[in-house]
Amino acid sequence: MIHLSTLTKRLTQFLTLALFFGFAAVAQAQWDIMQFGGRDYVSLDSIKKFYNFQTYKRSGNQIVLEGGNLIFKLRIGDQESTLNGIKFVLTYPVIESGAKTAISRIDLTKLIHPVLRPNYILNAGNFRTVIIDAGHGGKDAGAVNAYNTEKAYNLRVAQEVQKLLTAKGYRVILTRSSDVYLTLQQRVDIANSLKEAAIFISIHFNSGGRSARGIETFTLSPQGVAHYGSGLKPSDLNARNGNINDSANVALATAVHSQVLKNIGRNNTFDRGIKRARFSVLTGVRHPAILLEGGFMSHPYEAQLMENPKYMSAVARGVANAVILYKSAVSYRKPAARAQ
Ligand SMILES: [Zn+2]
Repeated sequence: MIHLSTLTKRLTQFLTLALFFGFAAVAQAQWDIMQFGGRDYVSLDSIKKFYNFQTYKRSGNQIVLEGGNLIFKLRIGDQESTLNGIKFVLTYPVIESGAKTAISRIDLTKLIHPVLRPNYILNAGNFRTVIIDAGHGGKDAGAVNAYNTEKAYNLRVAQEVQKLLTAKGYRVILTRSSDVYLTLQQRVDIANSLKEAAIFISIHFNSGGRSARGIETFTLSPQGVAHYGSGLKPSDLNARNGNINDSANVALATAVHSQVLKNIGRNNTFDRGIKRARFSVLTGVRHPAILLEGGFMSHPYEAQLMENPKYMSAVARGVANAVILYKSAVSYRKPAARAQ
């Protein structure tokens, strides 16, 4: 059971703002599509009209669209944008052409639209099963620091998410519930062998140089979009299993990313954004799927934080809350007119 006031509080979170925003009177607007560098772009002016943003402010290269409870910030020439303070890495930089500013059509259809209109994603809410994939295990420790191994952290978070979501009536399946080795394909097979609707969340912790820090959430690159930080390869043009869930993937990533950030607390982490990737579990799994990197084991401050059970609990609570929030956002239907 969720107490109504708790639910109401949760509903004030990011996704649901977008959700209710979707039912405001929508101005009739046509997409203003232009070509730039051989690619389709959509003007920010038509995006403003379609989603009922009230204001468009520009200062230098910074653009802010604001309306209702939404604040969308973009920068000309930049791929980083924020929606209500959550960082989204666009596939292509924002452009300026003549008097118009625009974002790529693929960023509009595969990112902005599903996030602002999650309830339009068909059948996405019809699940009670959540697959939690603790990354690595057994002979594969994942990242390692002076305190611990990534495989142990991943499992700790997975088991706590299982407890939290089971208590809310979800069926939770762990790809591993002990320190055993699984190949990436085995994880995909476990998920795809399920006959019922489900979502898939892979839990990892990061490692990099001593200065790299923060959390990032990966969703499958849409067809024709490269893995983050890599150039486009010919194989990126093929659709993969996970591409059937492009819209649900990014909506789920938004919920998980924003809730984990919120639960860890902005002061204790850094928002690296929601990014596109072609990790095996994302390309192979047929359910909506995301991969969370819950902090850097190689960062001195974050490494210490992770040894505090409160940090792991915050990550787990973030994931569990996100599942509940995501389900309500994608399930929401405009209430029918009251019967006479
Ligand atoms: Zn990992």
